[in-house]
Amino acid sequence: MNSYITIDGWRSNIRFSSAHIIHEYEKCGRLHGHTYAVHVKVFGKPDSKGIILDFAVLKDTLRAITDKLDHRILIPDKSSIIKIEKKDKSVKIQALGKTFVFPKNDCIFLPIESTSAENLAELILERLIDKTDLPNTIESIEIGVDEGYGQGARISKKIK
Ligand SMILES: [Zn+2]
Repeated sequence: MNSYITIDGWRSNIRFSSAHIIHEYEKCGRLHGHTYAVHVKVFGKPDSKGIILDFAVLKDTLRAITDKLDHRILIPDKSSIIKIEKKDKSVKIQALGKTFVFPKNDCIFLPIESTSAENLAELILERLIDKTDLPNTIESIEIGVDEGYGQGARISKKIK
């Protein structure tokens, strides 16, 4: 038997809207935005009450994670191709002959190489595992990040 619970971010309102630049691609190298939805699947065995993991806890945790990204400019702090200059109140981004200057408070700096849906999914998965008290009946967790409706990345991690 293989069981899991699932939450659809579009229908459960686990969404965030953010701006980003994917410097590696010409078209995506222009500042643009998406509304993202975060989905989750938690695989494991139901406990004696018949529950794999509390939906409310899962949703609250995901919302706490995505709230930090909402209405921000996503900056990939680990990028090897952009130069990031952080000042007191502003941040200057330089890449491939372009210069962007943003108010620092409007940005969120993320420990990833680029703000692709794949990397965002991995980051959210790691943060979810970090923030959740997982019972040892949980086998694996999958996170999906949709970049707009109908396209997205999925990543999963074995817990035990
Ligand atoms: Zn994009």
